[in-house]
Amino acid sequence: MRSLNVLISGASVAGPALAYWLDRHGFKPTIVERAPALREGGHAVDFRGNAHLSVLRQMGVLDKLEAVQTDITSTWYVNSEGKHQARMPDDLFSGDVEILRGDLARVLYDATKDRTEYIFGDSITSLTEDADGVNVTFERGAPRRFDLVIGADGLHSNTRRLTFGPEENFVKHLGVYCSIFTVGNHLGLDRTGHAYLTPGKLVSMYTANGNAEARAVFYFASPPLDLFRRDVEQQQAVLAKHFAGNGWQSDRLLQEMRHAPDFYFDSVGQVRMDSWTRGRVALVGDAAYCPSSLSGMGSGLALIGAYVLAGELAAAHGDHRVAFGRYEEAMRDYAAGCQKMGDGVASYMVPESRLLSAFLKQYYKVMPYMPGKKMMVAKTRKVAENIALRDYAN
Ligand SMILES: Cc1cc2nc3c(=O)[nH]c(=O)nc-3n(C[C@H](O)[C@H](O)[C@H](O)COP(=O)(O)OP(=O)(O)OC[C@H]3O[C@@H](n4cnc5c(N)ncnc54)[C@H](O)[C@@H]3O)c2cc1C
Repeated sequence: MRSLNVLISGASVAGPALAYWLDRHGFKPTIVERAPALREGGHAVDFRGNAHLSVLRQMGVLDKLEAVQTDITSTWYVNSEGKHQARMPDDLFSGDVEILRGDLARVLYDATKDRTEYIFGDSITSLTEDADGVNVTFERGAPRRFDLVIGADGLHSNTRRLTFGPEENFVKHLGVYCSIFTVGNHLGLDRTGHAYLTPGKLVSMYTANGNAEARAVFYFASPPLDLFRRDVEQQQAVLAKHFAGNGWQSDRLLQEMRHAPDFYFDSVGQVRMDSWTRGRVALVGDAAYCPSSLSGMGSGLALIGAYVLAGELAAAHGDHRVAFGRYEEAMRDYAAGCQKMGDGVASYMVPESRLLSAFLKQYYKVMPYMPGKKMMVAKTRKVAENIALRDYAN
């Protein structure tokens, strides 16, 4: 088998997971990440069911993830005075392993950093393919040549834009924006979360790292906004405009936002593409089939995609034409199932109508006792497990 040199764009979840499996199959991964260092921050993400857990176990990282799991025991809807109103159905949202995205990225980076070349603070500017490889130019570094290039650069993938065309052709906005950042645990919450729902807006705060700190989370309903994606000041101004005077802890959290070390802000969307590969370029994770944060499936899907893509390259002895076709075939239904989990969620997570938001608060009070909830938990697990993973061991 030829030992391919593979360039991966993006060092979050899909990128490092792919690098791990490529290295294990005898290929040489290089990762280029636009951020100057590994990006911290983000919400809690979940892995659930046998497919996710077996891949994490084979990577030798499952115990490391379990050691840094979030230890949230409950999340409550509260009123403007912070009084509990209804308990969120926690088992519906959390999986077998729940972990902060930043911790996950760190564990995957640690598992790959000794055998993968990481280039931080750079980004691909052009890809020119010929019969034997791809010439790549970068914003900062010197041009290089690789056998394959894989885009693991998320919802707003640069690799996708360069290879397949503009983002508008593939990204479907789900009508919601999300922001999350670290704040002090000034409410003295004990391994718990509070959420405050008003029409079209959800503010929540939950503890992290024991009770040492907390994460503030903001969701608001909005059509697509004309924002510069890396302009943090502009994003913070938008958040402040939406939430100033919104009640509960909104104003306090907005003040803390100005000093947050890990401010994250993005639209919530899904990526829909007929094909994830073209020539010597392929996409993996959110770049290819982002199911949205509302699906609860993003990280698990990215992990499985990385496992399958690397495995099919190994099974095809490095012949990307065969491997890419099999990757698409193996992942298509699974990705579609995960995306379905994100459909329509926005309308009941951040309902815009006053009536619906009042109804939901009442409904959440009784939901834990409703038979339908068990079915929903079982369905989520079934979707996460709905792939027969090949054993690609050498
Ligand atoms: C800082 C951060 C916070 C997040 N917070 C949440 C959250 O709160 N809730 C949620 O559901 N999802 C969140 N996500 C997305 C979540 O991680 C993904 O949905 C999921 O884990 C799939 O991961 P991915 O690796 O495919 O994509 P992502 O996690 O989006 O990672 C893409 C990576 O590519 C990098 N990148 C982007 N453009 C370029 C470029 N031009 N060149 C090189 N690298 C590039 C990004 O910096 C990032 O590291 C967050 C992602 C990041 C990066």
